Amino acid sequence: MKFFIFTLFLNFTLFNFTNLYSQHSNPDVEKHRETAISIKNLALNDPHGYHLLEKLVEFGPRLSGSENLINAENFLLELLQNYGFDTVYYQNVEAPHWVRGNTEKLNIISPYIEKKHLAIRALGNSIGTNGGEINAPVIMFDNFDQLEEAKESVKGKIVFFNNKYDQTLLNTFEGYSKAVRYRVDGAWRAAKYGAKAVLIRSVTTSFDNVPHTGTLRYVDTIPKIPGAALGVQDAEFLASLIQNSGEVVLSLNLSCEMKGLTTVKNIIAEIRGSVKPEEIVLVGGHIDSWDLGDGSHDDGGGCMQSIDVLRIFKVLDLKPSRTIRCVLFANEENGLRGALDYGKNSKEMGEKHIAAIESDAGVFTPRGFKAKTDSLTLSKLQSFLPLLQLTGIEWVKPGGGGADINQIPDVRAYIGYSPDEQRYFDLHHSDNDTFDKVNLREMQLGTAAMAILTFLISEEGLD
Ligand SMILES: [Zn+2]
Repeated sequence: MKFFIFTLFLNFTLFNFTNLYSQHSNPDVEKHRETAISIKNLALNDPHGYHLLEKLVEFGPRLSGSENLINAENFLLELLQNYGFDTVYYQNVEAPHWVRGNTEKLNIISPYIEKKHLAIRALGNSIGTNGGEINAPVIMFDNFDQLEEAKESVKGKIVFFNNKYDQTLLNTFEGYSKAVRYRVDGAWRAAKYGAKAVLIRSVTTSFDNVPHTGTLRYVDTIPKIPGAALGVQDAEFLASLIQNSGEVVLSLNLSCEMKGLTTVKNIIAEIRGSVKPEEIVLVGGHIDSWDLGDGSHDDGGGCMQSIDVLRIFKVLDLKPSRTIRCVLFANEENGLRGALDYGKNSKEMGEKHIAAIESDAGVFTPRGFKAKTDSLTLSKLQSFLPLLQLTGIEWVKPGGGGADINQIPDVRAYIGYSPDEQRYFDLHHSDNDTFDKVNLREMQLGTAAMAILTFLISEEGLD
């Protein structure tokens, strides 16, 4: 009974709160309702961005240094020039040129068993096995603490980090950031104790056997060793083999290599502000992708949403008060060089970004925006919610911004578009990230959310 009364009270309070909220929503925001509805309707009636994404991914995956990327850059530049924006330009950026090569083999040499080949993909920026094979016994750890405890036994071995993705975390990005340390830092940590190579269990929410790549990091003072990711099913298989058979000897052959530097492009388009042109509202994603799948969710979709935001302003003839700038960043995946250069240039030119919005979490159903900013600016952004809700956005809360925009100094609000995150890490950095996984309506709702937010910041500022 007590519970019942409490529930009634809670429902009553929530009901009143919701009512109060909509009745008393800010008139400065409410006056834009008509425009926000036009933005939403255009995004949902016109699948422009979705079809552009389909064209973009026809070039194939877009790793820095690839022919595919050059074709995609040319396509994007021409596309942007044809919309009639006020400015379209690019910045050349020097970025690492890493290639996977044709050989990625991991075989079980001993004990003798029927199943011999395991599904692997080299980790990005990894060195190869020098034209031959690395044959060595494998030693398995769940985490870095176990490695430290057994560091004396690592020399001459292949280290296998079988760190499991924490599936119990509702926020899959939290699970990712816990597990990704083994991909990023596993190689140098194992090499420090004389390991010959490193293997990781793929960093994914999926239970299939598709390996997921992603970058690894070397440390200058420690020898470089090759690294690869196992499909989750084969990681489980190898783990049980190690547990049941004692010594397991593996043979690893990788032909990947770092080729040096290549030139890639940040691509930029803007509509100049009519009242405060010096204040920039940036919206963007990254052009490059890993060389697996076609990078539809990571991050072709985010790029197309960002372009579509500017196109929507053009089609609806919205003259923004502040400058709206779309930035398609280069080389996010294996170097972040595009964003670093953009940030440096921007600082040198004394540019003033009041907000930067990044879409780089897949193009799934809109949920919210995560903002890295002060508390007053956060409440200002939250005051936009009644109009953002038109697109299914439920919240604006503190969070991390985005990998690219976070490299730009002194932005008042770093804002990450945050769609539903339950499927992203099934696909991320793997053969599974392909256009057929993109839902037209979900993607266009996200575009609408980003466009409405961009419009409101441009008109109302963040003060
Ligand atoms: Zn990305």
